[in-house]
Amino acid sequence: MTDTRVVRSRSRSSPVRRPVTTVGDDALGVATRMSDMDMATKLLIRATDAVLVGHVHPDADALGSALALGMGLERLGVPVAVSFAEPGEIPESLRSLPGGHLVVPADRVPERPDLLVSLDVGSAARLGSLDRLLTTARQSLIIDHHPSNTRFGDHHLIDPSAEATVVLVARLLDRLGVPIDLAIAENLYAGLATDTGHFRHADSDAHRLAARLIDTGVRPADLLRPITDSHPFGWLAMLSQVLGRAVLHQRAAAGRGVVSTIIDLSTSAGLRSEELDSVIDILRTAQEAAVAVVLKQTGPDTWQVSLRSHPPVDVAALATQLGGGGHVRAAGFTHHGEPDDAIRAILAALDRCGPALL
Ligand code: 5GP
Ligand code: MN
Repeated sequence: MTDTRVVRSRSRSSPVRRPVTTVGDDALGVATRMSDMDMATKLLIRATDAVLVGHVHPDADALGSALALGMGLERLGVPVAVSFAEPGEIPESLRSLPGGHLVVPADRVPERPDLLVSLDVGSAARLGSLDRLLTTARQSLIIDHHPSNTRFGDHHLIDPSAEATVVLVARLLDRLGVPIDLAIAENLYAGLATDTGHFRHADSDAHRLAARLIDTGVRPADLLRPITDSHPFGWLAMLSQVLGRAVLHQRAAAGRGVVSTIIDLSTSAGLRSEELDSVIDILRTAQEAAVAVVLKQTGPDTWQVSLRSHPPVDVAALATQLGGGGHVRAAGFTHHGEPDDAIRAILAALDRCGPALL
């Protein structure tokens, strides 16, 4: 959570509440208080070089945030590298995002950067092997919008009210005085559109940001087609299998209903993560369920679990209990063992914590 203390504004006599952070001491040895946004801006301006990292298997918000900020820093003359621990290359659907020249494989990032910036990463585990930079970098700055963020760095700009991490990056670029041109805008728009469910979960400020990005020349349909609207033919056969074996747990979640399915290795063979990630968006439209669950097998005994909910169910709290995290409406965790055990654990956690989650 953001550390909120009472701060007196200079222009008004009444105290206002705003997030503050403490960064170092001033010349008199008195702790200097500034907003998280001021602190992040200062760290970025002062960086002599930076490594920007998104979460493992980056989505458009993680990679778009890193590329947009990376291009901004590049324009300010800061040597910058963008990376993520897995997979070894940019996911195919995101390869058209501008700024790919900044991406460096995880085993070739500078090991001792002046500043490590973690973007859209809720916990150190989601950095994968790049979590090593938390100790080798001179300083780390965590920029994120996950309410479950574990505050694993030295400095934090965490705003769960931001629809996407790119919203925070857009504000930072404005403060840094970097003009948002088309190349940066495409990255910001991609993250904003995908993290808001194509603007279903976007407030008027987010729509205003989108309008500003479109004014730079972004063409939403062309930009988003490879990212969300394009799948190989084999996707259709996978969907028919996976949707055909979906199960409705009607009495679960205090009668609100849970719908689940699994994608095992034999079903997902030859398909990209983009195809597998699309399943939850279809499952979550089942009218009889407030919670959708997709278990994706990633190894003989390992499953990545995706959770989505409709109000009032809070899957961030559910996932956190099961060792993961995420947002109120979209969360996940990793399960080791049989898939049925993961479903049982989810249903039991929903039963156990009813009032807290529902
Ligand atoms: P998805 O279902 O799209 O993989 O993930 C949905 C949300 O849950 C994302 O915001 C993602 O960051 C979060 N999430 C997914 N899996 C994990 C996990 O294993 N740990 C944590 N902390 N968050 C996760
Ligand atoms: Mn995000």
